[in-house]
Amino acid sequence: MASNSTLHVWPIPAFTDNYIWCIRDSQSAILVDPGDAKPAIHYLQQEHLQLTGILITHYHADHIGGLKDLLTWGHSQGLSFPIYGPAAEDIPERTHALFEGDRVEIAKPAISLGVLEVPGHTLGHIAYVADVAHNPDQSPKLFCGDTLFASGCGRLFEGTPSQMSSSLSKFLNLPTDTLVYCTHEYTLSNIRFALAVEPNNHDLQQWAKTAHDLRQNNQSTVPTTIGHERRVNPFMRCDQEPVIVVAENTIGKKLNTSAEVLAVVRAWKDRF
Ligand SMILES: [Zn+2]
Repeated sequence: MASNSTLHVWPIPAFTDNYIWCIRDSQSAILVDPGDAKPAIHYLQQEHLQLTGILITHYHADHIGGLKDLLTWGHSQGLSFPIYGPAAEDIPERTHALFEGDRVEIAKPAISLGVLEVPGHTLGHIAYVADVAHNPDQSPKLFCGDTLFASGCGRLFEGTPSQMSSSLSKFLNLPTDTLVYCTHEYTLSNIRFALAVEPNNHDLQQWAKTAHDLRQNNQSTVPTTIGHERRVNPFMRCDQEPVIVVAENTIGKKLNTSAEVLAVVRAWKDRF
């Protein structure tokens, strides 16, 4: 593969703790969840990148707020590009409405993404998966919006614990080396909570040190991987003995499913 087609994923910081992910080669770029146009346009101009598409995971303002200005800017540059987003949510600028099982094929930069419906944070929330079968030269990638975070998960604004539990199960079915590109830098506060759930989780203790050092040096803690989240993220461990036991002790009764465990852990996090 020629070097100008090598694909990178770069975080563009926005607001206080959002990441707009930029999937790019040396000439073209796709933006994921551009909540703010200004930092995105600044990055595209500085890197001389042509915007070829936008992926939206859900309709919250900090994920779609930049669309209008990006369209205006794009038109002024003579650009037109598709805007992909969940079919079940109201996103006026969306050009392609997506359902579970759909594929997004973009030529430049070359990437093929599958669509998962992952309700919980919002009801129509979707995630994008670049798997090895369709992208043989790349590491597998997951763009999960506000569903999964490093060491945490999104708040249940609209969905039920049961919906979030099955959404996270879809992520647990992905290969362990899948890179997880979430849209917020919430990692340190998520780790504080995760340690309250599992104080004796050795992998989590190690990760707490690593993440702290990364933030001290003003570096991003994401992407992580599915395998890593399986070891350190309480919401990805609702079928694991230590998490089940602490959830049962918190609520004082036996819990029979991962969804029930998730409901207890999520409610605990909400008041943590
Ligand atoms: Zn959101």
